[in-house]
Amino acid sequence: MWKILIPKKIAYGENAAKEFDYPENALIITTTESKIYEKWIEYMGIKNYHIYDKVTPDPAIETIETIKNEFDGKNVSCYIGLGGGSSLDVCKYLSKMTGVPKILIPTTFGTGAEMTTYAVISFDHKKKLLQDEAFLADAAVIDPYFLPGTPFNIMRNSACDAAAQASEGYDSKLANPLTKLFCKEAFDILEDAIIHDKPELLPYGAMLSGIGFGNSSTTLGHALSYVFSNEGVPHGYSLSSCTNVAHKFNNSIYYDRFKKICQKLKFEPLKLNQSLDAAADVIMPDRGHLDNNPREVTKQDIIKCLDEILNSNPLT
Ligand SMILES: [Zn+2]
Repeated sequence: MWKILIPKKIAYGENAAKEFDYPENALIITTTESKIYEKWIEYMGIKNYHIYDKVTPDPAIETIETIKNEFDGKNVSCYIGLGGGSSLDVCKYLSKMTGVPKILIPTTFGTGAEMTTYAVISFDHKKKLLQDEAFLADAAVIDPYFLPGTPFNIMRNSACDAAAQASEGYDSKLANPLTKLFCKEAFDILEDAIIHDKPELLPYGAMLSGIGFGNSSTTLGHALSYVFSNEGVPHGYSLSSCTNVAHKFNNSIYYDRFKKICQKLKFEPLKLNQSLDAAADVIMPDRGHLDNNPREVTKQDIIKCLDEILNSNPLT
């Protein structure tokens, strides 16, 4: 038996966010400066809304409780998560707490967060990856309108993340014929977008990747990457080397193609401040990723992978 969960409604394409029918009295949850989001809201044509614009990266449970208290009794009709992963994650968790429906609108592309049942929230300054069917969007709106102006670095990290998610998701033990279909199509589109300089295809590829890996899982590449993220390396950047080495370890059909994508995006090698042994101790308990890896992974394997990441540039 297998099942797949996707948002009730998906609106995709040019003008998707402009033509979407937003209910009145919605609460828009975002992170950016007012001069940016005011332009977005005008484009979207939303009327009579509330706004909360103080979401920060790696959002904490306290932020969600603040929003809940601030808008309690205001009869908010729905939440509109507008922005990067943090705004969407806050929206997901808040909606689970209150039962108010949510519309998720990514303005950066790569995580596929608008498609998944995952959310990353910090408790006591520790990031926690949560999964709940209640996190699934009631509607996801993906509009390439938001793409221009994305700084190259963010675009590159997002593109790498989406390609890593699609290819790890394809190889995952939890994959099924339908998730493989999404992951395969996602990877083909992302590869075309990156190798042939067609950034307008990235949102679609990232969306498909979100459905694919969101209903299977990412694996060893993502498990390895978190020790680098913990030292401040952006998620997508750390995946460039980590997913490459993981694909080699797993003998993935995506090894060569993923490597070419990373070469095209010109990622630098990674550095790590802690010892390989200490890092492996951090990675080993990450069963959510490691148990779904197509090949069994020992601590010794992790140390070998880390050594390869750090001491023989896997992107050459
Ligand atoms: Zn990822």
